[in-house]
Amino acid sequence: MSRETLIDLLYLFSATTFLLALKGLGSPKRARAGNAVAALGMLVAVVATFFKYVDGHALHHVGLIVLAMFIGVIVAVPTARFVQMTAMPQLVAIFNGVGGGAAALVSITEFVHVRATHPATYVILEVLLGVLIGTVSFAGSAVAFAKLQELMTGRPITYPAQQVINALLGAGAVALIVATLVTSSSVTLWALLALAAVLGVAFVLPIGGADVPVLISLLNAFTGLAVAASGFTLGSNLLIVAGTLVGASGILLTRLMSKAMGRSLGNVLFSAFGSVVTASAGGGVEGRAVRSGSPEDAAVLLSYAARVVVVPGYGLAVAQAQHVLRELAEVLGEKGVEVVYAIHPVAGRMPGHMNVLLAEANVPYEDLIEMDEANSELQTADVALVVGANDTVNPAATNDPHSPIYGMPIIHADLAENVIFLKRSMRPGFAGIDNELLYNPKTTLVFGDAKDTLTKVVAAVKAG
Ligand code: NDP
Repeated sequence: MSRETLIDLLYLFSATTFLLALKGLGSPKRARAGNAVAALGMLVAVVATFFKYVDGHALHHVGLIVLAMFIGVIVAVPTARFVQMTAMPQLVAIFNGVGGGAAALVSITEFVHVRATHPATYVILEVLLGVLIGTVSFAGSAVAFAKLQELMTGRPITYPAQQVINALLGAGAVALIVATLVTSSSVTLWALLALAAVLGVAFVLPIGGADVPVLISLLNAFTGLAVAASGFTLGSNLLIVAGTLVGASGILLTRLMSKAMGRSLGNVLFSAFGSVVTASAGGGVEGRAVRSGSPEDAAVLLSYAARVVVVPGYGLAVAQAQHVLRELAEVLGEKGVEVVYAIHPVAGRMPGHMNVLLAEANVPYEDLIEMDEANSELQTADVALVVGANDTVNPAATNDPHSPIYGMPIIHADLAENVIFLKRSMRPGFAGIDNELLYNPKTTLVFGDAKDTLTKVVAAVKAG
């Protein structure tokens, strides 16, 4: 077997592992294994590439490549290991941006490389698309990172004629691509690079806080497409397969997230959602009464329940209360109370946020139920225990056609006999709007950090 055939077979193996990994990631039980399989495939692909001959030559600058990989590992491994779950979206943003930037750099070097050989127009076009999409992804991801890391305001930044300006920037990029195809000039290539960076920034500025994770998923799809374009340029089937998988899964995820928020993708990208905050956003409607209770009151309600549906949200991640929540479920279980966890697809700040958090605390997968099942369970539940969730249980999404979140499917915690709501204040959730459920006569609010409150509830349940 020739060296080239062996390398192609290894690449085929890697491409297969990527497909298996995607399958594995579709279920919480197999997600870890899926990740490990993809990592193995990637390792095989990287090692195989070192033995590849390009145009009859072995790989150049092996020392520099290994050094760059070493630096990448030193930076990325601790960053990924020690990141807080609440900071995961910005980590994904920056990793994704780096991928897009790398694809753009590969395309630029290939431009220099192939230009001298007077290649077919489509070859140059692939290179230029790699530069455009990769740079938009890099610049856009950098701004998304800055927004999520609160290095700049997370709210949409708007200015007059913004969409017209963005359309002009897009048209300018197309014009520069045509000019580069006609002239093969590196001047227009550098101009394209600069314009793509401005376009990436301008595209992301008007997208606000709660929509940024959706945007990151879309930028991730862009990076995939840029990598696939590099694959065409370099004649690498593996890059084409990997890039297309990232592109396709990123687009599917973006659509799923928009749907789970009850919005169209166009609305997410172009409506500057979140720029107007309702008057009550600072802390509830003045003068309206709510019923608050103590952790001990909550413990009594929970201990006498037959079925409890826990609705976790972003606040659970902020409080890092997942372990004590599982402990509460265990002590309730010992008293014969049945406890399940209702998972909204966009609870938290990224898809699967709650699944990962609860898995970290060893909550059994079979205790997790999805939104539709949860809504039928809630009709017969004695208590809905809302832990740091807000928008995802806000009845305005169903009842108020004027609400910005109208149309978003929610978990109907209000169907349960009693609602216990754990949060620190009357402040709203990510969408910045008041929540009618807080004023529902069924609801008991237990104010405080979710971890502190749950710790006291566990003690009271044990003592009771
Ligand atoms: P929300 O952001 O609506 O609400 C979180 C609540 O947690 C707040 O009301 C806050 O109230 C409370 N909280 C914060 N810290 C603590 C703490 N330490 N202890 C107790 N409570 C705390 O969360 P949801 O999960 O319900 O909704 C997610 C939002 O994010 C939705 O708007 C969704 O559209 C959006 N989003 C989600 C994406 C995803 O993929 N998951 C993607 C894009 C957007 P207080 O400050 O009073 O404590």
